[in-house]
Amino acid sequence: MICPYCGNEASRVVDTREVGDAIRRRRECLKCSERFTTYERIAKSNLMVVKRDGRREPFDRQKLFQGIHMACTKLPIPTQVIEELVTEVEANLYRLGRPEVPSRIIGEMVIERLRLVDQLAYVRFASVYRSFPDLETLKSVVDDLVERKDAP
Ligand SMILES: [Zn+2]
Repeated sequence: MICPYCGNEASRVVDTREVGDAIRRRRECLKCSERFTTYERIAKSNLMVVKRDGRREPFDRQKLFQGIHMACTKLPIPTQVIEELVTEVEANLYRLGRPEVPSRIIGEMVIERLRLVDQLAYVRFASVYRSFPDLETLKSVVDDLVERKDAP
């Protein structure tokens, strides 16, 4: 943690407490002795995704990333952009404040944003996602799509 007063990197924690979904730490700079507050988000792994067949599985950020990444294969879309998209979708999911979210909602959130990023990725993702039950299926279908496109 960098001190906002002098830029020094070393600080000691003088107080820690949980506030809502974050951990608030009161820190004291070891150099200038000023105090400042930091908030750390608690890692949330308890969000469940309800698939179309009713099965539930923990929300998996990596899996979401891979699904989008597949739709963006061979397109000039930087990984960074996909990362940001996933981060935004994830943040929105937690903002819903629900313990369970239908996979359909996650898909729509992605589609909505992908549309602004790249038309082709959007079409690929939307056409595949809307007619398939989950990201796993989506991934295999996009795999096929990409392979076929490359075939002579
Ligand atoms: Zn300082």
